[in-house]
Amino acid sequence: MIEKKQLNTIGRYWRKKYKQKVYKVPISISGFTCPNIDGTVARGGCSFCENESFSPNLTDKSKFKLNLTTKSNPRLQNQLHQLQTQFEITKNRLKKKFGAQKFIVYFQSFTNTYAPFETLKALYEEALSFDDVIGLSIGTRADSITDETLQYLASLNENYEIWIEYGIQSVFDTTLKKVNRGEDFKTIQNTIEKTKKLNLNICGHLIFGLPNESQEMMLQSVRQTIDLGINSIKFHPLYVVKNTLLTNEYNQGKFTPISEDLYIDTLIKSIKMLPDDISISRVTAGINDDSLLSPMWCSNKHYLINKIKKELQKNNLIY
Ligand code: SF4
Repeated sequence: MIEKKQLNTIGRYWRKKYKQKVYKVPISISGFTCPNIDGTVARGGCSFCENESFSPNLTDKSKFKLNLTTKSNPRLQNQLHQLQTQFEITKNRLKKKFGAQKFIVYFQSFTNTYAPFETLKALYEEALSFDDVIGLSIGTRADSITDETLQYLASLNENYEIWIEYGIQSVFDTTLKKVNRGEDFKTIQNTIEKTKKLNLNICGHLIFGLPNESQEMMLQSVRQTIDLGINSIKFHPLYVVKNTLLTNEYNQGKFTPISEDLYIDTLIKSIKMLPDDISISRVTAGINDDSLLSPMWCSNKHYLINKIKKELQKNNLIY
C-alpha cells in the first residue's frame, strides 16, 4: 500500500511545537502605508494592489500616513486602540469557531515595518502583552525594514515566536518591473539573508499567474525561494480587483488571469518540491465580494481549498 504523507502546514508546525492550537489574528492598522504607494520608491503601488480589498478590518480611513521619517505620531493611541479592538473580536471568534488556544498577532495589511521605530515598538509590544499571544507575524517588503528593527525583532524572538513575512512574488526582475513592484530580487535576497542570520522565522510569499510568466518561471521562483532558506511559504493566485492598475490591463485585453487548472497544477508541483522543514502557510487566496473582476474561480476560497485537498490526496499528500 502506498503511504500517504501529511504535509507540514503552519498549523501542524505550531501544534507540534506548542502542543496547543495556535491561530493567527490578522490586524490592519490605519496610518500605515507603503513606499511603493507614497512615492518613496514608486506611486500607485503594485499593479494588483488595492489595499482595502484585503483589509476587511480597516475601519479608520483617516488621511494620516506614517513613513520611516515621520517625526511624531499623534495617532499612536488610536492605533493601539484599533489593535486591541481588532484582536479581541477575532480572538473570540477563533476561540468559539475552532477552539483556538494561543495566538500570533499578524500585522497583515500595508508595509508593517514602514514607520518610525518607536511606533513599531509600541505596537508590537502592545500586541505581545495580550493574553494568550505567543508571537507576531509581520508582513512587509524587503526594502522597508531597517537593521535597527531587525535587531529588535531578533531580541523579541528570544522569548516569543517572531515571523517576518516578505512579499517575494517572483524571482524575475522583468516581472517585478512589469507589476510595478518597486524592488528587485537582489534586494529581497539580501534582506532575507540578513534576517536569516538573526535567526528570525521567515515566510516567503509567491504569486502564480503574474503577467507573462510561464509555469516553468513560476516553478523557478519556487526553487529559488526555497534556496533562500525560508521557513514557511504562502502561495497565491493573481486575481484582478477593481480600482487597481491591473484592472486597466485586464479591460484592455492585455492581461489574462491564470486558469484554475494551471494554478492547481503549479501548486501541486511546487508543494512536491518543498523540503519537509518548510511549512505551508497558505495554498490559495479568495475574495468573495464584488471587487473581484477575474478570475471568478477565486471567489470561493472554501471550494478551492477542498479541490486542492483532493488533488493533493491523489498525490498521496494530506493537507
Ligand atoms: S508592496 Fe504591498 S502594500 Fe505596497 S503596493 Fe505592493 S501589494 Fe500594495
